[in-house]
Amino acid sequence: MSQYDLVVIGSGPGGYVAALRAGQLGLKTALVEKCSELGGTCLNVGCIPSKALLDSSEHYHNATQNFDVHGIKVGKVQLDWAKMMERKNNVIAQTTQGIVGLCAKNKIDVIHGLASFKDANTIEVKGEDGTQEVKASKFIIATGSKPSSLPNIDIDRKRIITSTEALALKEVPKHLIVIGGGAIGLEMGSVYARLGSKVTVVEYMDTIIPTMDKDCSKALTRSLKKIGIEFKMKHAVSAAKVVKNKVTITATDLKKDIEASIEGDYVLVATGRKAFTDGLGLENIGVTLDARGKVSVGPQLETSAPGVYAIGDVIEGPMLAHKAEEEGVAVVEMLAGQPFHLNRDLIPGVVYTWPEVAAVGSTEQELKARGRQFKSGSFPFKASGRARAAEESDGFVKVLADKETDEILGVHMVGPRVADMIGEAVVAMEYRASAEDIGRIIHAHPTFSEALKEAALAATDNRALHM
Ligand code: FAD
Repeated sequence: MSQYDLVVIGSGPGGYVAALRAGQLGLKTALVEKCSELGGTCLNVGCIPSKALLDSSEHYHNATQNFDVHGIKVGKVQLDWAKMMERKNNVIAQTTQGIVGLCAKNKIDVIHGLASFKDANTIEVKGEDGTQEVKASKFIIATGSKPSSLPNIDIDRKRIITSTEALALKEVPKHLIVIGGGAIGLEMGSVYARLGSKVTVVEYMDTIIPTMDKDCSKALTRSLKKIGIEFKMKHAVSAAKVVKNKVTITATDLKKDIEASIEGDYVLVATGRKAFTDGLGLENIGVTLDARGKVSVGPQLETSAPGVYAIGDVIEGPMLAHKAEEEGVAVVEMLAGQPFHLNRDLIPGVVYTWPEVAAVGSTEQELKARGRQFKSGSFPFKASGRARAAEESDGFVKVLADKETDEILGVHMVGPRVADMIGEAVVAMEYRASAEDIGRIIHAHPTFSEALKEAALAATDNRALHM
């Protein structure tokens, strides 16, 4: 039987990063993973494969739709779907293999099998070669999440699918119906719309990306309509039925109070994800779950069982890889005697559609609801020289700052490469910068990031220079 300082259960971005940091800090560490590949949802069926397909489909879309305006004539552009999928699989394989190498470098013992708690210091790991007991003084649960569905909808994984199947379809759908206008639904919908599928997004709320700033939702809706995505807002889906190669959904139009049916060849259920705790034996150590089935944790992410911590999708907060990573690092550093550092207020959120959406801090709606006095400054990409040069003028940057102190309270962006631009806003807010601070920092010209400087100037006292 092996005895460790720390055992991390689950090798997604939360778990493997926690294990790497523990290795760096000299803790004797094991990483337990039930699947044959390391990397969890993010590397195998989430962030990485979706971005690989988003990039490939964007190239195809540009070749078929956007080259002409740049004066580039191409012959008949053809899609090699099998090769596009093969590239995506290669990207996954390279990335997951990289984690194997990093674990070896940091002297992490990787154990494959399903971990189940026997007591607060012991897990049983059921693997291909039988069951072994592993002991540790501390544990981190990083078992992630799985797709959730709607009542009355059975996901058959063939015609009624989750994002996992949508990332591995054998064909490009003729008509893909996406239930849910959140990041995952819109990203997968974008992939297939760019490749020629008719895509219909059916959303219960009155806006897509409903947790983000309403101006971002509006701008993204306009842009996605341009690539042919159709939206059915305020529609409540009640059923989905498969007949041969077709699937029909039934939805109530909540505005008109009428029932409608939509027929497609695939339905992607992208209505969210739920915490995954199956088989962990949490009841054996008294770990409690909250009302939504997530592992309950205290401020330093300790569960109700002393010495057992939980991070990532399995606990409260946004289900994002970088949130899981930072939680893992914070817990491990604390276990190694360092301060616990985690700023839950500054977790950036990104949607990798085109244009991209990126945000950090409070939305305008949240500030109003809190009664906070704030100023707002926006700058449209159509006024940016860099954006015009790139023929990418959709979107804007909006900076929200405290009315009195000018401290930045939120930054919201829709536009080209804003996923990479949001980092500047996060750094600024981490150091509690004012809008004027960003407005006074020299930004290279011409860059998309000048739009942030201009929006910051607009928020400071309406002194954007290029509009
Ligand atoms: P996971 O990555 O889910 O890993 C959990 C691991 O634990 C799994 O490998 C699982 O097999 C293992 N496990 C579970 N139970 C046991 C057990 N009992 N014993 C042993 N092993 C176990 N986030 C972003 O930040 N950016 C994105 O662009 C993005 N895109 C996404 C696209 C899609 C299509 C999806 C589905 C998700 C996306 N996400 C994205 C979300 C991101 O993937 C998750 O937030 C992230 O993977 C959570 O990390 P985690 O470590 O908490 O859990």
